[in-house]
Amino acid sequence: MENGLKEKLFSSIESEKENLFSLIQRLIQIKSYSGEEKEIVEFIVSKMKEYGFDEAYHDGFGNAIGKIGNGPIKIMYDAHIDTVRVTETENWIHPPFGGEIVNGKMYGRGAVDEKPAMAGFMIAGKVLKKIYGSDFPFTLYMVGSVLEEDADGYPLYHIIRNEKIKPDYVVLGEPTDLKVYRGQRGRMELKITATGKSAHGAHNHKGINAIYKMMPIVADIEKLDKKLKPKSPLGKGSITVSQVVSKAPSMCSVSDYCQIHLDRRMTIGENKNSVIKELKEIMKKHKSDAKISVPDVEGISWKGTKFSQEAYFPTWVYDEKHPLVDAAMKTSMAAIGKAKSGVWSFSTNGVATAGHFGIPTIGFAPGREELAHSSKEELVLNDLLKATKFYSLFPFEMIKNIKK
Ligand SMILES: [Zn+2]
Repeated sequence: MENGLKEKLFSSIESEKENLFSLIQRLIQIKSYSGEEKEIVEFIVSKMKEYGFDEAYHDGFGNAIGKIGNGPIKIMYDAHIDTVRVTETENWIHPPFGGEIVNGKMYGRGAVDEKPAMAGFMIAGKVLKKIYGSDFPFTLYMVGSVLEEDADGYPLYHIIRNEKIKPDYVVLGEPTDLKVYRGQRGRMELKITATGKSAHGAHNHKGINAIYKMMPIVADIEKLDKKLKPKSPLGKGSITVSQVVSKAPSMCSVSDYCQIHLDRRMTIGENKNSVIKELKEIMKKHKSDAKISVPDVEGISWKGTKFSQEAYFPTWVYDEKHPLVDAAMKTSMAAIGKAKSGVWSFSTNGVATAGHFGIPTIGFAPGREELAHSSKEELVLNDLLKATKFYSLFPFEMIKNIKK
């Protein structure tokens, strides 16, 4: 890193402070529910062009993509710019699409999850272009991904598989409260389907009740949840019956169909095979012929692109000594004067980059994860300024770590 680069970057970002704050305000004011991100994507692309990015466009899925530099090391910054909906029962003190500022905090839907990172990336990009011109030792992609709330991972899966952009390292903008997050539990969904034989309720001994076949399985799943063991640093996995559906020819008949839907969170060492094996053991114990399946998640993006993916999102975690985590910790030290690592409780686009493709991934952003999806979403504006410094410096620290 050239002498004084850090100071130059940080002071330039300080001088962009008002632009940064009005940019995040605008991003919050543009409503962008999952599948309805056209306006915000077009806004981001036009701003990236205005800021002098080398490339700015939306891809075949509808993600906003900006590119800076053409060096050999490819780093991707990703912030999903869709949000969950505001529901009638939510109690917002500040209007969810107002972007109001009170005492140095900005309020609104997406103020935590996770529009601030997008604003930070863009201003960091603007400053990098201004200072560095065109001769970068790295290539930096800045992605505003869409539909993450409905299909975590898929937007980046699309970029890597269909747009053929394969980064070497990924930084996610999910809220970390300015810590370096280095992993998350995986998750998957499963269905178990039991079939029986219907009969008139008056002659129920002639039928086989599918609900009765399912009941001992449900009871054992409840017990299984309590037996799952924690693994540091991700904690313990979990299994939850989220839905029970049954069918019978009438309300006066023996039910011949029962299906349960399961949410499974996976810690280290747990994966699709191990999860299915556990369930098969329960089936075997009860001599059950019920079928286990993994459903597909399907949908359509604002651009009209359909997608379908298996509801399996692998666990991932990186050691604190990993060069990517280490570079992020050093950048954090330089940008905010401290460095702490952590992990997410919820799922992120890292299930695609780290989980499916094995591309080293971390996260760094302002905001507290536990406020996501709530009417309490708030952004400490000064934290966004700090994160933006991090985003401007990180690629240089990363390169230093690889060269060693
Ligand atoms: Zn998010």
